[in-house]
Amino acid sequence: MNPELILIPGLNNHRISLLFQSHDFCYQQKFEIVQKRIKFMPEEINCIICNHPANIKLENLEGYQEGETFTIYHCSSCNTSFAWPHVINENIYDKIYSHADIIPGYSRYTLYANEITSQKNPLDYLANKEAVYFSIKEILEKDVGKEARILEVGAGLGYLTYAIRKEGFNIVGLDISSDAVEQAKIKFGDYFICGDIYEFRNDNEGRFDVIILTEVIEHISDPAGFCDALLKLIKNDGQLIITTPNKSSFSSEEIWETELPPVHLTWLSETSFKSIAKQKNLSLSFFNFSDFNKTHIDVTRFIFYNQFYKIKNRAPVLDRNGKVIIPAPLRKAKGTKGKLKIAFKKYFKPFFIQFLTHKKNINRNNVLCVILKKNR
Ligand SMILES: [Zn+2]
Repeated sequence: MNPELILIPGLNNHRISLLFQSHDFCYQQKFEIVQKRIKFMPEEINCIICNHPANIKLENLEGYQEGETFTIYHCSSCNTSFAWPHVINENIYDKIYSHADIIPGYSRYTLYANEITSQKNPLDYLANKEAVYFSIKEILEKDVGKEARILEVGAGLGYLTYAIRKEGFNIVGLDISSDAVEQAKIKFGDYFICGDIYEFRNDNEGRFDVIILTEVIEHISDPAGFCDALLKLIKNDGQLIITTPNKSSFSSEEIWETELPPVHLTWLSETSFKSIAKQKNLSLSFFNFSDFNKTHIDVTRFIFYNQFYKIKNRAPVLDRNGKVIIPAPLRKAKGTKGKLKIAFKKYFKPFFIQFLTHKKNINRNNVLCVILKKNR
C-alpha cells in the first residue's frame, strides 16, 4: 500500500498535507484533523477550480448533519461556490446510505433501483423522470456507438448502468462502495467493479471511449484533479460526460441552493467548466435541455418564482446522532391517477411552461450536463 498525499485544494501557502495509508485511514479522523487546523485558516483562500482569490459569502452555515458548520466561498472569476472545510466526510455517507429509503433526495434512488427491472424500457423510464438521465440517453443515442466501451463512475445502486446496458451498450459500472457494488451485482449482473478511481486509473489508462459521471463531482474535494483521473481513462478521441447541479441556472443572490456540505462540497457553474476545459486543453459543449424542459415542470424556472416563492432555508437532514430528521414519504411505485394525469401532462404542462417560464433560458436546466473531449 502506497501512502497517499492529500492536498486540500484552494490553500496555497497554508496547504494542509496529510500523509496517510489510503486504505487504513479513518476518514472521520482526517476530517477532525482538518477541522482543527482550519482554525488557523488564512484569510485568503483561492478558488478550487481557477485559483482566483475567493470571497466569503456566508459563515456558519449549518451542514447536512446538525452541529457541523461551514463557510461558503464564492469565486467571481469562474462563478464557483465551495464549502469550507472542503473535505469529504465518508462517515456521513454510511449514515445516508443506511437510511437512503427515507432521506429526501436519496429516497428516489432506492425507488429507481427497485422499479427499474420491471420496466419495459429502463432508460426511457429514467429519462422521463430526471433531466440528468434524459441528457445521458440523448447523448448516447446520438453520439455513441454500441461497440464503444463505456464506464459509469460512481455507479452507486447500479440502475443507470443497468438501463444503458439494456439498450445494448457496452458499459460497466465502477463504485468505491463495496456494499453498493455487491447489491448491484446481485440485482443486475456481473458488470460492476468496486474500486477507487485513482487506483483504477493506473491499470486502465486509455481504455474507455466514454465515461459517465452523474451527480458525483459536487461531492468530491478536488473536482479538477478528479477530472484528470477520468481523462486518463479515456482514449484520445473519447468523451467525458458530467452532470452536476447547475449554479448558472440560479441568480447570483442564491448562496447555496444545493445539498448542504459536506455532502455537496462544490456548486459548479457553466463558467467553472469553461475554466476546467481551458486549463486542461479540452473542448466542451453543454447539453441543450429544451426538449426536456418543454414537457417537465420545474417551478424554479417560473418568472415570479424568486419574488413569491423563496426557497426555504435548507436545514440539516441528520441530527447529531446521525438519525434522519425529516423522513420523505416513500413515493408509491405506481401512483398514476388515470386519464386526468395524462391529460395534464400532455396539454397543460407544456402550456404552463411556455407561458410562465423564461423562454430565453429554455435550454438550461437546474442540472448541467457537460461533454468534455481532448483537443487533438
Ligand atoms: Zn474560480
